Amino acid sequence: AGTLFIVATPIGNLDDLTRRAEQVLSSVDLVAAEDTRHSGRLLQHLGISKAMWALHDHNERERSESLLDRIDAGESVALISDAGTPLISDPGYVLVRAARRRGIRVVPVPGACAMVAALSAAGLPTDRFLFAGFLPARSAARTKALETLARETATLVFYESPRRISALLQDIKSTLGECREVVLARELTKAFETFYSGSVVDVLEAVNADPHSAKGEYVVMVAGATESVTDQVAVDADRVLTLLLTELP
Ligand code: SAM
Repeated sequence: AGTLFIVATPIGNLDDLTRRAEQVLSSVDLVAAEDTRHSGRLLQHLGISKAMWALHDHNERERSESLLDRIDAGESVALISDAGTPLISDPGYVLVRAARRRGIRVVPVPGACAMVAALSAAGLPTDRFLFAGFLPARSAARTKALETLARETATLVFYESPRRISALLQDIKSTLGECREVVLARELTKAFETFYSGSVVDVLEAVNADPHSAKGEYVVMVAGATESVTDQVAVDADRVLTLLLTELP
């Protein structure tokens, strides 16, 4: 049987494609890509001409089985996404899961990933982090999701579209508090790469004042709840209990 390679591609700067990624893309029989037109341009840039299959959220289930049949028959396949590492807020999970079930060899070819790049330069704790990808697009659902994370002490990491960046910061402010430290990484590895950091209020102000903020891609990082915040909840509960007890006959 062939091999399924999971190949990371650049998130902006084409020089971030690794030599191994290039070798693998040149040697496989077939490239499965989220958007064949977009990835076709990358392959063209590399001077690689390959058969391509589209594999996206809407056809992953049906396409995976026929892709795996081809691998079982001896072909090797590289999976790439539009940018960065496949499966990280990108298609591929169904395929990799099914490949493992069939006993097919799955080989990662690591490289760029916006979440890791952002965390590595943000200056927030990285010993424990919780990557939550894209939060729901609607404010009510987003607020609910943020509420479940309010007492999380690990650094929180999200992806967000530029259209909703301001709304997300507003919701962080109202659910996690005005003082919560936030770092935004915008346009990583590209010409206008920018980091914004400070309290969520400061960052919101900076984003709203920046005429370029509606364009570009963002990784949003939020400092975890400090122990004192979580302790405070316990202290408050104790105080209420003491008060209640003194009121009891
Ligand atoms: N698989 C990709 C990875 O490994 O990072 C992520 C794919 S996800 C569909 C796209 C999101 O990743 C964007 O909306 C943005 O939040 C983030 N992203 C991708 N490239 C970025 C960049 N150059 N700078 C900042 N964020 C980026």
